[in-house]
Amino acid sequence: MQYCDILLHAAHIVTQDEQGRILDNASLAIADGLVVGIGPRADMDALWQAARVMDMGNSLVLPGLINAHTHAAMTLLRGLADDMPLMDWLGKSIFPVEKQLTADLTRLGSLLGYAEMLRTGTTACVDMYLFAEASLEAAHTAGLRCLGGEAVFDFPGAACAGPEQALEKTLALAEKYRSHPRLRVAVNPHSVYTCSPQTLGACRDLAHSQNLPLHIHLAETPQETALCLSAHAMRPTALCHSLGLLDLPCTLAHVVDVSAEELDLLARTKAVVAHNPSSNMKLASGTAPVPAMLERGLPVGLGTDGPASNNRLNIFVEMDRCALLHKLAEKNPTVLPAEQTLHMATTGGAAAMHDMRLGRLAAGRPADCVALNLDAPGLQPLYSPVSHIVYAATGMETRMTMVGGEVLYEDGRFSRFDYPALCAEARAARDFVLRAAGRKPA
Ligand SMILES: [Zn+2]
Repeated sequence: MQYCDILLHAAHIVTQDEQGRILDNASLAIADGLVVGIGPRADMDALWQAARVMDMGNSLVLPGLINAHTHAAMTLLRGLADDMPLMDWLGKSIFPVEKQLTADLTRLGSLLGYAEMLRTGTTACVDMYLFAEASLEAAHTAGLRCLGGEAVFDFPGAACAGPEQALEKTLALAEKYRSHPRLRVAVNPHSVYTCSPQTLGACRDLAHSQNLPLHIHLAETPQETALCLSAHAMRPTALCHSLGLLDLPCTLAHVVDVSAEELDLLARTKAVVAHNPSSNMKLASGTAPVPAMLERGLPVGLGTDGPASNNRLNIFVEMDRCALLHKLAEKNPTVLPAEQTLHMATTGGAAAMHDMRLGRLAAGRPADCVALNLDAPGLQPLYSPVSHIVYAATGMETRMTMVGGEVLYEDGRFSRFDYPALCAEARAARDFVLRAAGRKPA
């Protein structure tokens, strides 16, 4: 008999392990935040003595989903402005409010966003925003894993006077969180249209010297390409390549407007793509060539982007939309089968986090997992767990979310913060956002 902290029983466990095992009537043994055993329930009951038994009944357990690109604090701007092109939407609605944001509002918006993620089965995210110290504090409060960092722009903003200050903040945060078990810092140049080559070079140097990943919006729209060609006589991917950004471990959000040659180039680098199907559709940015990326072995994770251009932070929704978008775009229903789509949301997300321990349930891996209630309407009867995860679940069937062996959400309750109090704060913040947007509070 061996001892563990938790023995978790479930009707089905989708492991996403190297063999792609799906176990029926199975159990996970968890100790010190890691999975230490996985197998049929009868065997596990005989092997393990647990301090706590969690019998999840008729549940489907899977690895925690990973949001490969987001701006969680933008929950405060959700629904403020919709149905506009990217550059208009940013320039007329988003940047004016962001100019007046504060660290406290960022902390509030981020915690709201992380609550939505935990509620819908996401256990880790790659985040980029202003006042990143507040976003990272919110992630620390919520308990989910986060690769975050200060967004770097050439122009002054509410959080920083310019790129030098953003990079100073990035370095301070990297030092603060260097040994944090769940938080990590990335260098976050916003994009090639908001950062000069000099700024991008400074970002590269900081990432290289501090051994940090780099996270940037890249090739999101044909308009970005046109701006880059006129300013630098290079396309966005070529510009980043020429500056050495792609030699670093980097997460590239969007990668919509790319050629086959550029994909060949990206596949030879350390780049990981964060694909954001809802945001790309809502802003009509274009269709990222995801099947062509995967054919080349380029790792691709799934992101929501910010909740003002989605408008959800729900990776179950992204999986469904991703699979359907590319089937339609290629006019081929065999494109992006459910298994491949689930891999994007788990092991692809781990690549985007630059933490390959994540995304699988196997001995020695972090105990980050989610339980879906299979008694929920919409999930009965069950033939294929992976089909239900990708095509039928909405995320609201999530009944338990665990990170590092710690239950952060279970049956309507968040374990680390007071959600009703958070909602009251969000309602109070609404008037501030409306005034900052030049509108009268109702
Ligand atoms: Zn984004």
